[in-house]
Amino acid sequence: MFENLSERLSGVFDKLTKQGALSDEDVKTALREVRVALLEADVSLPVARDFIKAIQDKATGQAVTKSVTPGQQVVKIVHDELVHVLAGDEEDPGALKIDNPPTPILMVGLQGSGKTTTTGKLAKRLTEKNGKRVLMASLDIYRPAAMQQLAVLGTQIGVDTLPIVAGETAVQIAKRAKQQATLGGYDVYMLDTAGRLQIDQTLMQEVEDVRDAVNPRETLLVVDGLTGQVAVEVAEEFDGKIGISGVVLTRMDGDGRGGAALSMRAVTGKPIKFVGLGEKMDALEEFHPERIAGRILGMGDIVSLVEKAQETIEAEKAERMMKRFQKGQFNMNDLKMQLDQMLKMGGMEGIMGMMPGAGKMAKQAEKAGLDDSILRRQIALINSMTKKERANPQILQASRKKRIAKGAGLEVSELNKLMKQHRQMSDMMKKMGKGGMLKKAMAGMF
Ligand code: GDP
Repeated sequence: MFENLSERLSGVFDKLTKQGALSDEDVKTALREVRVALLEADVSLPVARDFIKAIQDKATGQAVTKSVTPGQQVVKIVHDELVHVLAGDEEDPGALKIDNPPTPILMVGLQGSGKTTTTGKLAKRLTEKNGKRVLMASLDIYRPAAMQQLAVLGTQIGVDTLPIVAGETAVQIAKRAKQQATLGGYDVYMLDTAGRLQIDQTLMQEVEDVRDAVNPRETLLVVDGLTGQVAVEVAEEFDGKIGISGVVLTRMDGDGRGGAALSMRAVTGKPIKFVGLGEKMDALEEFHPERIAGRILGMGDIVSLVEKAQETIEAEKAERMMKRFQKGQFNMNDLKMQLDQMLKMGGMEGIMGMMPGAGKMAKQAEKAGLDDSILRRQIALINSMTKKERANPQILQASRKKRIAKGAGLEVSELNKLMKQHRQMSDMMKKMGKGGMLKKAMAGMF
């Protein structure tokens, strides 16, 4: 998600941060480019306009242009404004309210938006991460296949589903789910409502009736992020009729623009709580405005990276990795660990955007038509290094390089590329470590 926008913005800010002094005119020119980038990302016009205006007010004038690092100041202002546009004024807009058991969660949205898949993903997450007992129920009385789909998902992820009884209305099923959740001692029950291809009166009425029957604690709208501004319109409509508490944007794995994500909060006033990043049951991510803003601006998202790593490797290893990052240390062993992780976590795409400066690396790889085989080759190169070389890659001279490349059955040019990437990433880590940004972002993680 956000790759295109991120690339455009880093282009604008690269220019800006390289300049020692900035005039108001320089800032204005840069902001014009930011505006175009936002519109190209399919951000709605009024949102883009307000965004630029807010930045302009803060970024022009003495405070910024007279500062020692004017370019970085502007980036910081843009970052904060991105967070604002994504989060509104709430502390933690993404948190789900789960209190009195059994807590009802209503899932609504158009057919094909990914509603059933998301219900399963969320149930899995609540079970595994939050230790909740979850019951899922499909209210799609029009499509028996949809009910089956949820039942199959339930078996797959080990979450209970309400037994299917033919001939009930949606409200009857909802009430039965509530009863079973209460009797069975569940913490949460999730109601996967029927979707239509378009919003229509019958659908809305049915969802309203279900809502009134169970009084949901969360009403989550699932919308297809690929549909851009249409997703925002759908959200406005559902919110007006039913009242939603948050949004889940799906298919963000296929959306390099991310306009829907950027406009959603500002237009509807409702927070994005999760994003769907693939078809697999664990391809759901909590939406953290701070981290997303960092990713968009190419600062990476170390916190999510480490969290993801924690899910697949032992906590001890992850903690060690984090401590090293904090100190700005990043040698070939760290890089290898990350490459291994990437493979484990399903390849380049999922994780690349989270590493500082790695967005570019992924782009280069993509342009060259490379896939995960590049990861394997890079791992082979690092494996071919001695312990000492991995810990101090700066000692690699021509003869060592030759030996390493030969050992991996690859060309020296490929090793040079790897070393360049390592240098860029290491520089970025150091910069972030120095500014205390990393520390701040990671505080409270353990
Ligand atoms: P529903 O009709 O709204 O319940 O939609 P489904 O849950 O059946 O999903 C429709 C299709 O979208 C399925 O093939 C899902 O695997 C796919 N899908 C759902 N969420 C995502 C996502 O975040 N990314 C991708 N790539 N596909 C998704």
